[in-house]
Amino acid sequence: MHILVINCGSSSIKADVIDHYSGHRAASMDVERLGSTNPLFRFNGHREELEDGTDHGEALAIALPKLLDYLPDDVTIRGVGHRVVHGGDRFTRPVRITEEVEQAIEAVSDLAPLHNPINLAGIRAARKVLPDVGHVAVFDTAFHATLPTRARAYALPQELADQADLRRYGFHGISHGYVAQRAAEFLRADLRDLRLITCHLGNGASVCAVEYGRSIETSMGLTPLEGLVMGTRSGDVDPGILIHLMRNHDYDVDSLDRLLNQDSGLAGLSGRGNDMRDILEQAAQGDDRCRLAIQVFSHRLRKYIGAYAAVMGGVDAVVFTAGIGENSAIIRHRVAQRLDFLGAHLDEDKNRDTQVDDDQPVAMISTPTSRTHLLAVRTDESHAIAADVSQLLLEHDQLSGERPIPVAVSARHAHLRQETVEALFGEGYELTPRNDLSQPGQWAAEETVRVIGPRNEIASVRILGPTRAIDQLEISRTDEFHLGIDAPVRASGDVDNTPGIILEGPEGRVELEKGVICAWRHIHMTPDDAAHFGVDDRDVVEVAISGGERDLVFGDVLVRVSPNFKLEMHIDTDEANAANLGRDARGTLVCTEGMASLRRRKTTYDPITQAAQ
Ligand code: AMP
Repeated sequence: MHILVINCGSSSIKADVIDHYSGHRAASMDVERLGSTNPLFRFNGHREELEDGTDHGEALAIALPKLLDYLPDDVTIRGVGHRVVHGGDRFTRPVRITEEVEQAIEAVSDLAPLHNPINLAGIRAARKVLPDVGHVAVFDTAFHATLPTRARAYALPQELADQADLRRYGFHGISHGYVAQRAAEFLRADLRDLRLITCHLGNGASVCAVEYGRSIETSMGLTPLEGLVMGTRSGDVDPGILIHLMRNHDYDVDSLDRLLNQDSGLAGLSGRGNDMRDILEQAAQGDDRCRLAIQVFSHRLRKYIGAYAAVMGGVDAVVFTAGIGENSAIIRHRVAQRLDFLGAHLDEDKNRDTQVDDDQPVAMISTPTSRTHLLAVRTDESHAIAADVSQLLLEHDQLSGERPIPVAVSARHAHLRQETVEALFGEGYELTPRNDLSQPGQWAAEETVRVIGPRNEIASVRILGPTRAIDQLEISRTDEFHLGIDAPVRASGDVDNTPGIILEGPEGRVELEKGVICAWRHIHMTPDDAAHFGVDDRDVVEVAISGGERDLVFGDVLVRVSPNFKLEMHIDTDEANAANLGRDARGTLVCTEGMASLRRRKTTYDPITQAAQ
């Protein structure tokens, strides 16, 4: 399926007609220097000067019809994808554009005043040129919608944070999600089994902790200014500096904005501009400021990698991408050296000789014995957008509310091994079924157990039967806080790298080494249900719920498929309370996450020959 992908930057437009599956471009064009003198439109060897002051909308109105005329007869545009920088709280997934969506994008524009209005101008112009195909907005912030509250919150007064929308959103999500998926394919692993640190190092730069497919930490915040050293942006600075500059050096809002966004970063440190190639060259010739710029850039990133490994309790691969990450062996070397404590060993020869490109988009740069892989991965945000758009358009007709999904509330409970049951209740003890649960073969037992956390205890936690191969305690966020432990959001059975806890029964105590999770909200369904909804096991979907006090949409819902299941969505007590759900609550599948289409791609790369298979 061919998708037109439009990316409007502050003074430029890039557009590609892309095959959503292969990423192959049937045509590409770009417009430069918009809003200033001598704007230029180029495609396929064709070059046209535009009038001075031409804006984004006008340029697209001129350029798009020419691009469309040029397309071969067998290429039909089935949809248009627009990159939109900020989705705010409202957009946590790609969305089909309507008048109402345009207004909502406008409404979050004050969070990205340099980007969203321009993205919107592109959307409006393209909808006029191509009114008969679906237009989809894909958001740079959406991949980070899974950031847990602890990573999202600034330590500011909560009333102010709520009132002024001060929270961390994260950016470059399209790229982080894409390279994470590419890395997983290359490693022949499921993304949902990996802990990755993805380093997007371009003119803008950010790093992301991707834990089992979900962004759980990232270096950019409310705006793309926080975090790493960038081309012209400072990244992290002590906020006290801003107060000091305003108080003692006559800085105001505009001059601070210019300082931090345009005059800092590599450009400010080096005094030689923002291009890493120039800075590396000058540093090699002995320029001390350029050397310092490289040192600060690499040091800051190493610091984040160490921090994110700590946040995830380990890391399976570190991924380098974008202009600097894909191309600069020197920066990769500086960042990856002395990561031995993480089990990451750089292969210096491979690192030096590696050049990722369209033919070889992923390369391993760690030694064969390195426990943590180091990878260079070519990012392709337009391909990621095309994949998201095709997915959404395909689903549009497929998903419907014809098969309502009953919603059940899962109270805290324990699944135990027989050995643990005996340690708690006595040798040879068998659990006694009390009542059947909705999922066939599952029952609640008569027995309960006391859970003892570092901070508090919870009595009478129900045990579910039958016994299992691993111990697992499923609690809510409120329980987590009450007990005093950090439990990650996990699918049932996925207990590696989770905290343990003490269980107490009438005949003894058991100290679990691991197994405490907040259950990832999920839908059980049969293969027939999955075919009906057009989803696969372990896809992540959104579900609209009605039957509560107010209608709402739950994002990030995991699909579990088995012939033994019965169609039902499970949420925990916190979520049910927040939604004030009634007994007859019903869900409707509204959208599957766009990356699902990439997950289903069959292409893998052989890590040894690095050839596509
Ligand atoms: P991007 O924003 O992804 O296009 O990346 C732009 C950044 O990548 C600029 O700082 C470039 O200098 C840098 N870059 C591109 N090629 C190289 C290279 N071969 N070595 C070092 N940096 C590079």
